[in-house]
Amino acid sequence: MPPPSPGRSVGPSVCVVGGGLAGLSAAITAADAGAVVTLLESRARLGGATFSFVRDGLSIDNGQHVFLRCCTAYRGFLDRLGVADRVWMQDRLSLPVVTPGGRIHHLSRGRGPAPLHLAGSLSRYPLLTAADKLAAARAVLGLRRIDPEDSRADDMSFGRWLRRTGQSERAIDALWGLLSIPTMNVAPDNASLGLAAMVFRTGLLQDSAAGDIGMPAVPLSQLHAEPARAVLDAAGADVRTSARVTAIERRDDRLLVRTHTGDVPADAVVVAVPHDDVAAILPEGAVADPTALRGLGASPIVNLHVIYDRRVTDQRFAVGHASPVQWVFDRSEVAGLSPGDGQYLAVSLSAAHSYLHLPVAALRERFLPALAELFPAARAAHLRSFLVTREPQATFRAAPGTARLRLGECTAVPGVLLAGSWTDTGWPATMEGAVRSGVRAARRALCVERVSQSREVDAAAADRPSMEGAMST
Ligand SMILES: Cc1cc2nc3c(=O)[nH]c(=O)nc-3n(C[C@H](O)[C@H](O)[C@H](O)COP(=O)(O)OP(=O)(O)OC[C@H]3O[C@@H](n4cnc5c(N)ncnc54)[C@H](O)[C@@H]3O)c2cc1C
Repeated sequence: MPPPSPGRSVGPSVCVVGGGLAGLSAAITAADAGAVVTLLESRARLGGATFSFVRDGLSIDNGQHVFLRCCTAYRGFLDRLGVADRVWMQDRLSLPVVTPGGRIHHLSRGRGPAPLHLAGSLSRYPLLTAADKLAAARAVLGLRRIDPEDSRADDMSFGRWLRRTGQSERAIDALWGLLSIPTMNVAPDNASLGLAAMVFRTGLLQDSAAGDIGMPAVPLSQLHAEPARAVLDAAGADVRTSARVTAIERRDDRLLVRTHTGDVPADAVVVAVPHDDVAAILPEGAVADPTALRGLGASPIVNLHVIYDRRVTDQRFAVGHASPVQWVFDRSEVAGLSPGDGQYLAVSLSAAHSYLHLPVAALRERFLPALAELFPAARAAHLRSFLVTREPQATFRAAPGTARLRLGECTAVPGVLLAGSWTDTGWPATMEGAVRSGVRAARRALCVERVSQSREVDAAAADRPSMEGAMST
């Protein structure tokens, strides 16, 4: 750790546990404010639930990640990392929905203000009847009236509410589920209405540009882990991988973070680990009932990485309808496949309980014909490879009654803060929620006693792109 520059006082020491997006954004926020930062990550790499690996010369992501224009904190994080040009974003929301036979219908936004920006496209959407469209308009008005923070909304199932507002099974399948399953990682019947209302209101119903879709243009590790490591190194932070934290203890007026490879004393600790790992390391009494966090459960995501010997579609991404294929992405360029050397499609399957334990051969048998139905050119293509990545605990289960289980950043032990996409950000388990929680916890960590001595520590921080300033939604 380099000594602080002459003329600068030393800020509080902040130890961040967990090197996912929550931990990385907490560490960078704290370092930017002049704190002395140590980051401890149990795995050999940073990035947490977002990472890539190389197989047969191609960069494979553990799972396709997508974000929306309304993800202001996440986009601010990318700005701070200096990688905002490593993502692709639509100028204007346009969701290609592809049906067996290869017909493509677009759900796109028009020029009007929200929510009217969707009206034209919905009125032309052939997968809904006229009655479905009227009912959808009623549901849009209904969602605008729901307070996502109302516990009664959180206790109700989104699917039940949709049926109560007259949505047919067809509309749930061709419209509501198609949008809510990938964002919440649960089927509408298993989803919290409060969280669904937050997603639809924030992404589609309040600001016409909010739902424009963005995605990485480079492998995930090049987007998050590597640049974050460079930023933290440049800030003088001590970043340790393969450093599993086993306990956090109070020692007089400081905290001691214990690992097998040495202990780290700190003024404040941001615990940014998955909810299932929190109970094992928090000091006693930090949260009322750490075992209650198990109630947040887990929902899996499975990705199928399908490489053909030729191009089978011109779509950058598409959503399957009347097909087991949910969302499918062309990853050829991102993965490093040479132009003219085939096509790499990733099929992302959310709420994937039924696929999680299926053998690769069974997934092939099910999904290759399904892809050939959606993209007829695949019928003549030869398969080069078929790889499956499975994330059993991709997100918490955004079920009814979840909100009361999510915790805020403060614990009963002064200086011990919580972060992670499972904390009570109001967002589902997303990159946006993770970054928001990390920034929020770091701000609190900076309020520990010694921070008053270090307010002027880093005037240059004001000139840097700020994740905090970006959290406008
Ligand atoms: C396949 C997949 C697809 C997804 N798709 C999307 C998407 O399209 N859009 C979107 O916004 N979100 C998506 N998500 C969700 C998003 O990736 C996560 O919500 C977010 O990255 C979680 O960040 P986090 O920092 O809260 O947790 P994590 O990324 O889980 O980080 C926690 C870290 O803590 C470490 N740790 C645990 N215990 C210890 C310990 N004792 N000591 C030290 N370190 C410890 C872990 O190793 C891990 O690195 C997806 C997730 C997956 C898995």
